[in-house]
Amino acid sequence: MVNFPFDNRYVQLPARFHAQATPTPVRAPALLQLNRKLAEELGLDADALAQDDGVAILAGNQLPEGSDPLAMTYAGYQFGMWVPLLGDGRAILLGEVVDRSGMRRDIQLKGAGPTPFSRRGDGRAGIGPVLREYLLSESMAALGVPTTRSLAAIKTGEPIFRRRPEPGAVLTRVAQSHIRVGTFQFFGARRDDEAVQLLADHTIERHYPRANDAENRYIGLLDAVIANQAKLIAHWQLVGFIHGVMNTDNCSIAGETLDYGPCAFMDSYHPNTVFSSIDRRGRYAYRNQPTMAQWNLVGFAETLLPLFADEEGTAIEMAKESLQRFSTHFENEQLSGWRKKLGLTTEDPSDADLIEQLLKSMAENHADFTLTCRHLCALSADDPDRDGPAREGFDDPSPFDAWAARWRLRLRQENSSDVPRQQLMRSANPAFIPRNHRVEEALQAAEEDNLKPFETLLKVLETPYDDQPEHEPLSAAPRPDQIVHETFCGT
Ligand code: AMP
Ligand code: MG
Repeated sequence: MVNFPFDNRYVQLPARFHAQATPTPVRAPALLQLNRKLAEELGLDADALAQDDGVAILAGNQLPEGSDPLAMTYAGYQFGMWVPLLGDGRAILLGEVVDRSGMRRDIQLKGAGPTPFSRRGDGRAGIGPVLREYLLSESMAALGVPTTRSLAAIKTGEPIFRRRPEPGAVLTRVAQSHIRVGTFQFFGARRDDEAVQLLADHTIERHYPRANDAENRYIGLLDAVIANQAKLIAHWQLVGFIHGVMNTDNCSIAGETLDYGPCAFMDSYHPNTVFSSIDRRGRYAYRNQPTMAQWNLVGFAETLLPLFADEEGTAIEMAKESLQRFSTHFENEQLSGWRKKLGLTTEDPSDADLIEQLLKSMAENHADFTLTCRHLCALSADDPDRDGPAREGFDDPSPFDAWAARWRLRLRQENSSDVPRQQLMRSANPAFIPRNHRVEEALQAAEEDNLKPFETLLKVLETPYDDQPEHEPLSAAPRPDQIVHETFCGT
């Protein structure tokens, strides 16, 4: 039997925080993918996990010793509409382990069968969405973006029925926690002040112990969540990631990217880009992500009001003051991230405009976001003749030429030398992102029992800042006939 060193705390919170739920066994579990490195980090025996016993656990056919399986209770604002009860309808928390670095991590099976929160859903997931989350979340981790992780993907040997029958699968998701803004909102909406306080105390102890040093520890909590969320969204913007369903139930209190549904990376840059088939109005378009995160944080702050001060007016003023800091945090993160992407090591007040001009010319000329930035890494500070690959991505290269001249002036201003700058830039501008057309290709092959393209892509995405010339086709932008315009939730 595989040993999971469980130490479960969430289950100790009162009964209204969770519902008992056990995974429903599946017919013929088979391992699709196991993340050995992550297993090691978690103190798990990867070899044992890959054997029948381990696979039985990862499929939900057998409960590991020490597990306290549960479905978490939460609510949420979905596309701005209040839903008073959501909860884990197809995910079951097996328990928590303290990893090798001392960090507490949730181990959760996603797609493990119905729970008391499943409503009319089957509690299952398909191989496509499971492998998609695996690939995207591991790619984000390798890019350095805070995210939940994927420990394993299992094929169930049973079909699930969506728009068409699909092979069923289970993902083992690992998170700093699955506490969401929507978890707080569930209790806040019920005016269950006692529960809000218990949850806030649990969250401080688990994620933000330094909040205890603040004058008001709950303002300390709010400030820390705001800072982490701002940092997260800035990261998304810097790599061109569009989450697609930034509902409050998908907004992690720990500041990790959570719930990989119809998310996608942009190919050609445009701030209005939306992929999700259910986001008809572009609520969660690329350019709106910071605003929507702020909107979610207002909802979070609202739930904490009774903890800030006895008098509501005072509490609201305190919350407002904290919420105002989001923009500063976000802009600082974004600006320092872009400076790195452009190889700038000093600060100049004109930098924000320099960045804006590049983005504007990319948008107007359908330039690929990732490739343009990566090509910039190879440019020389004093020789425009080597600009070829960067400028060729623009429909009309002249705005790029003008921009590059301005950028060079800025480089000269800080006496930038090519080699160290190029190295810095290569560490901030990935060569490889999970391109939608490549992801689709890999998932389609996996559905037809060919895991090779998935595994190759996964491997390449593990070192996204390396050139890997032998895998150049995986870094290329899609041809017009390869462009993926729309992505689906797949629930
Ligand atoms: P999501 O879109 O994955 O963030 O899920 C939104 C809500 O729907 C959550 O409460 C999920 O647990 C629930 N849900 C999604 N898919 C299923 C399913 N197949 N069966 C039961 N509940 C589901
Ligand atoms: Mg969700």
